[in-house]
Amino acid sequence: MKTDVQRPEKLQGLILRIQRMSTEDGPGIRSTVFFKGCPLRCVWCHNPESIPDRPQMHWVGSRCIGCMSCIEACPEKALSAAGSGIDIDRLSCTDCLCCAEVCPSTAMEIYGRYYSPEELVNELVKDRVYFEQSGGGVTLSGGEPARQPDFARKVLESLKEKGIHTALDTCGQCPWERLEMLLPFTDLLLYDLKLMDEQLHRDYTGLSGSQIQRNLARVRDYREEHHNSLEIWVRTPVIPGHTDSVENIRAIGAFIHDAMAGAVSKWELCAFNNLCIHKYDGLGIDWKCRDYGLVTESDMERLVQAASESAGRDVIVHASGATMGKESGGHPPAPEKSCPPSGCETPP
Ligand code: SF4
Ligand code: SF4
Ligand code: SF4
Repeated sequence: MKTDVQRPEKLQGLILRIQRMSTEDGPGIRSTVFFKGCPLRCVWCHNPESIPDRPQMHWVGSRCIGCMSCIEACPEKALSAAGSGIDIDRLSCTDCLCCAEVCPSTAMEIYGRYYSPEELVNELVKDRVYFEQSGGGVTLSGGEPARQPDFARKVLESLKEKGIHTALDTCGQCPWERLEMLLPFTDLLLYDLKLMDEQLHRDYTGLSGSQIQRNLARVRDYREEHHNSLEIWVRTPVIPGHTDSVENIRAIGAFIHDAMAGAVSKWELCAFNNLCIHKYDGLGIDWKCRDYGLVTESDMERLVQAASESAGRDVIVHASGATMGKESGGHPPAPEKSCPPSGCETPP
């Protein structure tokens, strides 16, 4: 039996989900496509289910009625009853779906399914009326879209042919050629700059930040060489104890000012929250950021000011996400050392 979670032979992309009516990932109302597979292992990652490059079974505790049918059905003996629910032995699980087929309450669910470019684009154009009325469009996000470059390019190209605004949300960790092949069909580049200190970048994301910075500088050159109208927005996650120092924000601002030479029009500081705890629980991952609090309002104001001063007047700086009121207290203690989420595959 061939299912849509088996690795396909033709050009297809592994997609985690499509989020409609998004107002967070570019201008207007957007449909955001979350690709599966990411080269980084950010300790604060909000989409841990997007990191592995393969479909992945998980257990949804709120739907489980405790019938134990899944345990009996698993041919690999990968399931067991644990104190907190159903435990999945990920080394034994082959993602065969037998448990999902017998589960009466859809509590065993697969993250990720394969789409052909045509199938995905047909799904996305259904929201065209919202795009047209709001100045929105489609954003490819993840995970990392540049990890599936042929598929991403085909999707972007088809969307452009249909006159739909396209945005590419990337962590920038990929060979330049992969990014370059996506740029001709991209209207807006959402580019993450998380940490400028090399050691901290390695500690908290699992890899060096040098390729990310190099690629962004090459995007600037690409724009100039191709007289391209590509818009660039930088995004920085503000994570208590990891990325939220004024020193880090000023270092990113200096890079935007010096290396990008007016190419960046907007810089968004995205405040951390821990609302994704349930995803880590479902994947059986002990998330080190689970008890981190919100960034305080006064700290965010300080960071926005540092960002505005360092990036230059041409860059619009704004903060997004919930913050804690000025009277509500401070940050949780800074983490002692890095610890990429367990259960994720080793970075290449
Ligand atoms: S870049 Fe970091 S935060 Fe984004 S999906 Fe990858 S691991 Fe998660
Ligand atoms: S997907 Fe297959 S191997 Fe994995 S837990 Fe379910 S039944 Fe077992
Ligand atoms: S089959 Fe479904 S409902 Fe029954 S124990 Fe397993 S996950 Fe829970």
